[in-house]
This record gives sequence, C-alpha cells and structure tokens, in this order.
Amino acid sequence: MFKKGSKLFSIFNNKCPQCQEGDFLVSRPYNLVKAGEIHERCPVCNLRYAKEPGFYYGAMYVAYALAVALFVTLWTSFNLFFKGTSIGWQIGTILVATLVLTPYIYALSKIIWANMFITYDKDARDQKQKSNHL
Ligand SMILES: [Zn+2]
Repeated sequence: MFKKGSKLFSIFNNKCPQCQEGDFLVSRPYNLVKAGEIHERCPVCNLRYAKEPGFYYGAMYVAYALAVALFVTLWTSFNLFFKGTSIGWQIGTILVATLVLTPYIYALSKIIWANMFITYDKDARDQKQKSNHL
C-alpha cells in the first residue's frame, strides 16, 4: 500500500523505522497481554528502539491526538449523517469505539512516535551484517 522508505510504510506494516524490515511490535495489538509491547532491538538491523529510558512516554501525546481525531471524526459524522441520534447514543458509541480501539491507538502511537525520531536508512541492514563479521 505504501512505498518502502516512507514513514507510513513503517507505521502501517509494523516495521522497524530504520531498516523497515524487522518487526517493531512484539505482537498484533489485539493480543491484549502484549498490546503495545515492542522489541528491544530490531531483529534485522539491531537498532535499539528505545533511544533512552522513558522514550515512549512521549507517545502519550500521539495517543491523545489520535483519540481526539477519533472523537472528532465520530462526532462530525453523527452531526452530518445521523442527525436524529440521541445524545446518549452518541456518547455511548464514542465511548465504545474508544475502548475498542485503545489497544490499537496505544500501539500505533508508539510506532508513530518512533518514526518521528528515527529516519529510514536503506543501508541499515547491510551495516549490521558488516559489523557481525568484525
Ligand atoms: Zn531495523
């Protein structure tokens, strides 16, 4: 869907932000026990995903932005396409959607956050192979 080398490729395919080949998250978000858990290092290029302790606290801002975007999208579509919906139904639907999507938002926020700081390097994979031979 997205071209390799773009940040969206890494985000939507759950790939390492640097080499875009190794997996980023340990599992898919709906495995609730491991939701949002990330590998310590990229299995392909050996990049350390957490640049420093607490690095992923900043992902909270991204998660917040995603939640607000979800809220605004739902609210707008109620007011444009389902005008007769009662306020109770609107709030209920938004709450349920937010709850259901929380593991996904949590995981997505981490990989987006990582992509804000780590850039794609098409040679990353080869560099690791070289360093393994030293
Ligand atoms: Zn990598």
